[in-house]
Amino acid sequence: MLRLYGKIFRTGMLTERVPTVPREEAVEREGARLKAVIDKRFRGSLAIRQVDAGSCNGCELEIHALNNVYYNVERFGVHFVASPRHADILLVTGPVSRHMEAALKRTYEATPDPKWVIAVGDCGVCGGEFGVSYASCGAVSEVIPVDLAIPGCPPTPLDLLRGLLSLFVNPK
Ligand code: SF4
Repeated sequence: MLRLYGKIFRTGMLTERVPTVPREEAVEREGARLKAVIDKRFRGSLAIRQVDAGSCNGCELEIHALNNVYYNVERFGVHFVASPRHADILLVTGPVSRHMEAALKRTYEATPDPKWVIAVGDCGVCGGEFGVSYASCGAVSEVIPVDLAIPGCPPTPLDLLRGLLSLFVNPK
């Protein structure tokens, strides 16, 4: 055991130190505004269920980035949940494949009221490159009611934050 401790002591730290990257001002600003809304309307916790209804996964990469150490949206009160039964918001990427049509409808029905649906990415908003075909229903709004569209291919994490904010501040 002492030999092991000695080796650890002699080897020292081999990993790089965490770089001190200044946080993006816009993320901090929009995040603080979003946190104020979530504190007031959702008692500090907004639950999102993400549904991949047929995406190429490009949109998912940006959505996942919201939870990395840089964006870290949990600090603003935004939480991704594993079940629609615990969700306030469905964040849906598309286009909606025919195989996912029934599952998306059932997910919508399983989400308790009040609920909001956000279509993410050009494919979710209008069908994008894929449109409507024998394999694709196209936009999310062709299958379930949509409250907000966040276009982009894919939208950035900041676009997603701004979209979430616009759902509750000056909604269209
Ligand atoms: S909008 Fe772009 S990134 Fe998102 S699913 Fe469609 S093709 Fe992929």
